[in-house]
Amino acid sequence: AFHPAEGRTHTTCGYCGVGCALDVVTQDDEVTAVLPARDGPVNRGHACVKGRFSHGFRTSPERLTRPLLRRHGVLEPAGWDEALAHVARGLRAAVEAGGPDAVAAISSARATNEENYLVQKFMRVVIGTNNVDNCSRLCHSPSAAGLTASFGLSGGTDTFDDVERADCLLVVGANPVEAHPVVGARLLRRVLRGARLVVADPRAVGLALHADVHLRPRPGTNVALFHGLAHVLLAEALTDEEFLRERATGLPELTELLADYPPDRVADLTGVPAADLVAAARLYGRAERPAIVYGLGVTEHLHGTDGVRSLSNLAILRGAVGTDRGYGVNPLRGQNNVQGASDMGALPDLLPGYGKVTDTAARSRAEDVWGTPVPPRPGLRIPDMFTAARAGNLQALWIVGEDVCATDPDANQVARALDACPLVVCNELFLSETARHADVVLPAASWLEKDGTFVNFDRRFQRVRPAVPPPGQARSDFDILRSVAEAMGAGLGCPTPADALAECGRLAPVFAGLSQDRLDREGSVPWPCRSPGGPGEAKLYTERFATPDGRAHLAAAPYLPPGEQPDDDYPLVLVTGRRWAHYNSGSMTRRGGNLALDPVDFLDLHSDDAGRYGLRDGQDVTVESRHGRARLVVRVGEWTAPGQVFCSFHFPASGVNRLTSDVADTVTSCPEYKVTAVRLAAT
Ligand code: SF4
Repeated sequence: AFHPAEGRTHTTCGYCGVGCALDVVTQDDEVTAVLPARDGPVNRGHACVKGRFSHGFRTSPERLTRPLLRRHGVLEPAGWDEALAHVARGLRAAVEAGGPDAVAAISSARATNEENYLVQKFMRVVIGTNNVDNCSRLCHSPSAAGLTASFGLSGGTDTFDDVERADCLLVVGANPVEAHPVVGARLLRRVLRGARLVVADPRAVGLALHADVHLRPRPGTNVALFHGLAHVLLAEALTDEEFLRERATGLPELTELLADYPPDRVADLTGVPAADLVAAARLYGRAERPAIVYGLGVTEHLHGTDGVRSLSNLAILRGAVGTDRGYGVNPLRGQNNVQGASDMGALPDLLPGYGKVTDTAARSRAEDVWGTPVPPRPGLRIPDMFTAARAGNLQALWIVGEDVCATDPDANQVARALDACPLVVCNELFLSETARHADVVLPAASWLEKDGTFVNFDRRFQRVRPAVPPPGQARSDFDILRSVAEAMGAGLGCPTPADALAECGRLAPVFAGLSQDRLDREGSVPWPCRSPGGPGEAKLYTERFATPDGRAHLAAAPYLPPGEQPDDDYPLVLVTGRRWAHYNSGSMTRRGGNLALDPVDFLDLHSDDAGRYGLRDGQDVTVESRHGRARLVVRVGEWTAPGQVFCSFHFPASGVNRLTSDVADTVTSCPEYKVTAVRLAAT
C-alpha cells in the first residue's frame, strides 16, 4: 500500500531500444524509484542499471527550466512568448531568404512517435520541405536500407521471444551484455541452456566468453567475413535449396561472387583463422533454427549497408527467415525510439510508414490527410545539412533532442556548421554541447514527463506516460512544435498525442490498426498492424516477402576496404561504442547516479600496445586522429586486439567525436564510427 501522495506510473524506458516496461514510483511529484514491470514484453520483471537508477537527472540543478535566447552573443533567460515569437520570425525569415529548402530539422529517439510525427509534419506542411532527418542516420540507417532491399521492410524479421528459441545464435558486432543488458541476459540464459553461440566481434565482448567460436575480424572487414561464411554454407551444401528455389532470388550472382571468398583468402582479408570461420559456418549451417542478432558493429561502416545485406544472405541461404526453420535477422537498436523516429517519417526521403516522397501514390495519401502538397524531391540528410550550413546555404536548423556536437562524427566540423547557420534552435534537457552553439534553447520534457508511444527494437509500439510534471517551464516537444506552428499562423492539427498517432494511422497503412486506447488495453502491439482488430505481425514474411516480387533478395556486393587504414603516422584503429552504465552522450546517465558506477572514459588498450608505447594503466593519454584530438585514461587489458583501441562516446568532454571522420556508408551516409586511424601520446 502506498501513502496517498505516492503514485505509480506504468511506462517504457527512455534509454536503449529493448523497451523495458517500468513502473515509476513517485511521491509528491518526485521520482523515488523505478521498478521493472513483470508484464514487459521483453523485460518481464528485469531491467538494467540505466533504466532502474538513472532518473536523478530529472532534478539536476543543470536542468533547463526556462527558454534561453542569444542576445549580444550570450544565451540569456527569456519568456516562452518571446522565444516562440523569435523562432517563428526566424523561420519565416529563413524561408523568405532562401526558400523552404533553406530550413532543416533533426529529430531523434528522445522524441516520442507522436513528436517525431509532428516534426516531419511541421517541416513538410508548415515549411514546405523534406529537409528532416533523425538520429538513425548515425546508427541503423544501413539496417533500414539493407533489410528493406533484402526482405522488403525496415525492421527486424522476428521477435525477441522467437530469437530466444533458436538453437544457434550468431551475434555480430554487438555487445548486448553492456548496451542492451536485458537482452544480453536472455541470450546468455539461452546459451547456458544449450544453444550454440557464435560471436563475431573484434573485441572480447561479454558474450564472447561463452561462445563456441569467437571470430575477431579486423574492423572494417565484415563483408569479407560474411562472404566467407556464405562460401562455406554453399561449399558444404548447408543451404535450403527449396527455399532458395521458391522464395529467393540472386543465387547465381552470389554463387559467382563467393567463389572469390574461400576461407584462406578470407583469413587474409579479415585476420580470422580459416578453421574458425569454417567451424562457425558449420554451427550456423547445421542448426535447426538459427537466429542472427547484430548491432552497430555491422552498420557503422563505409560499406554498412553491404554488411547488412551480406549478413542477411546467410539467413536466406539457410531458409531461416519467414519460415519455421529459423529466426531471421534482428538488429539491436541502441536508442529507445530510434525505430519509431524513422517509422514516423522523420526522414528526408520517406513519409510515415515508409512511403517514398518520390512516389505519387504515397504523397497523395499524405496530401489527402494534411490538405497540402508534399514536396516530391528528397530533402537533406544530416551530414548534408551541416555541409549546406558551412556553405552558407542553410538559414535555419531546428534540432529536437540530439546533441550533434557530442555524438556526430568530426565534431569540429559540426560546430562550424552550427556557427555558420543564422538560426539554430535546440529543444534540450541541458545546456548540451550543441545547445551552447544555439540561438534559441527551448527547455524540453524528458521521457519521465511526457505522453506518447515508443517503438522498441522488435517493432512493438508501447505507451510512454508522464509520471511527474516537467520542471519549471519545460514543455514536451509535442507542445513546443504545436506552439511554434501557431506562432507562425499555421495549424498542425493533432491537439493531443493520441490524435497524432490516429492521424499517422490514416496515412500509413502499416500503422492503421494502432491507437493509444488499444495500447492502454493490450500493452504492446507490433507493426505492421493494418486493422484495429488485427494482432500485428510479430514474425514477418511468413506468406511472402515485402519486396516488389515477393522474394528475398540475395546481395552480391564485393568486399571493399574501410575508409581509413592505419599507417606509420596513425598506427592504431579506434572503435567507439557503449558501456554498461551510460547512455549515448551521457547527458542523463552522468547526472543520474550512474556516474559513480562508471566515472571516467577509458581507452581500452591491449597490453602488447601498452608495452610498445610505454603506457600504463590509469595514465592520461592524448589520442590524435587526422581530424582532431581527445584526452582519455588508459585501461590496459585484453578486451581489444593488438593494434586496436576502444572508447565510448558517453563523455563529450573527452572529445572522442573530434577524432572520428566524415567517412560514411556509401548508401545511407551512416558514419564509419568503427574505423578511425589514431596515434597515442602520453600527457
Ligand atoms: Fe531495459 Fe534498455 Fe532501459 Fe536497460 S536501458 S532498462 S535494458 S530498456
